[in-house]
Amino acid sequence: MLFPKFPIPVYIDEVQVDKGILILDFPPTSKSIEFDFKRAFMTNIGLESSLTESTMLEIRGIDFQNKPPRVGSYYFLPEVFFNQNFWSEVDSEDQESHFLAFKAEYNNSIPFSLGKALNRNEYLFFGEENEVENLEKALSILRTFSFKSSKIQLVAHDVGQGNCNQVFFGCCSFVMYDFGSREKSILENALSNFDAKLHADHIDCRLNTILSEGYNDKESNLKIFVLSHWDIDHFNALNQMDQRVIDLFDLFVVPKEIPTDTAKRAFDRLPPDKTLRIEMRRRIGRGPNQLELIYMNDIFRLFRGSKSSNRNKSGLVLTVKTPNCNAILPADHHYDQINDTVYPYHNENELYFIVPHHGGHAGRVSIINNWLNLREVVYSVGNNQWGHPFGYVTGTYNALARINVRHETRINSDYKKTMN
Ligand SMILES: [Zn+2]
Ligand SMILES: [Zn+2]
Repeated sequence: MLFPKFPIPVYIDEVQVDKGILILDFPPTSKSIEFDFKRAFMTNIGLESSLTESTMLEIRGIDFQNKPPRVGSYYFLPEVFFNQNFWSEVDSEDQESHFLAFKAEYNNSIPFSLGKALNRNEYLFFGEENEVENLEKALSILRTFSFKSSKIQLVAHDVGQGNCNQVFFGCCSFVMYDFGSREKSILENALSNFDAKLHADHIDCRLNTILSEGYNDKESNLKIFVLSHWDIDHFNALNQMDQRVIDLFDLFVVPKEIPTDTAKRAFDRLPPDKTLRIEMRRRIGRGPNQLELIYMNDIFRLFRGSKSSNRNKSGLVLTVKTPNCNAILPADHHYDQINDTVYPYHNENELYFIVPHHGGHAGRVSIINNWLNLREVVYSVGNNQWGHPFGYVTGTYNALARINVRHETRINSDYKKTMN
């Protein structure tokens, strides 16, 4: 049996205790340690490593014995795991297979245990060097752009189970907030629509530039991508998007810490000179995981979270504010976080709100009862195994008579709202 000189670290992407399913990824490999963890893993369990670049693995048949590993943590795989007799390949094609490298079944009668999660220093050893970056320096690039606030349109694209919001402004400028989905065919469709619209807008913009003198092409055709957090259903379009389309963007703003090899592959496709990596703030003691306003212009605001092992609570939040309305795009952040430091900037005029975490669990939903200006809510959701949106969540929104639009992307398709 081939075994690497050091044990294989894995990242826990998802655990489904009742179904005995574990989805793993590997830490991003750094320049200093060139090691193919996936290949080592596959060789050790005696199954052929697929040619795909994907590194996420789905393992079935696991008896967690009420001691499941923590999602968002890293572990070393115990040596017992690699007894080849325990392993068999699972042959299946489904909508989610597109981001998985492999599915395998683990048939060990001894309960599965990964032991203790790695601490920060242990896993950073495998991760990249933690270079210090100045937040101000990163944001100064954003400050070189100027933003015009006329003609703002908010779109929540139907990407199935995932998130993709877009704020259009000026002639054909936009901020795209996330682009990911767990559903293969819907994602491919959304990608080709996006590509087609980008090219149509480009021609439109060129015409505008010719027709109106003094029209600054750069300002009227600004493309910015903001990523909320490195969860597959928010970023995996970046792994599939045409590199030429990626190169059309003027700027990418992403959370600095890249947790997995899958995320690293997406990150490596972004042009380094156009990419801002935002470090999450340090948490003070055991205080709440609060968001902090880090940037604003006449159109949108950016908030960052605190360092946390909960990926959903530790990312970037985008909001839009025009003279007569507001929109909050929280991705998977929690209600308390939004309420404490984001909502106070948006408590006047009408509020449009993308429901956090696809209508799944995101803390205390009842807090929205205090948001007197809430008028429209959007669930960015597709077919999923968790039952998003949850009944207690939709129930809370349904009980508020002041909400006059409840939009669910899988039923109502794209949500489009003009904001002025
Ligand atoms: Zn998430
Ligand atoms: Zn999500």
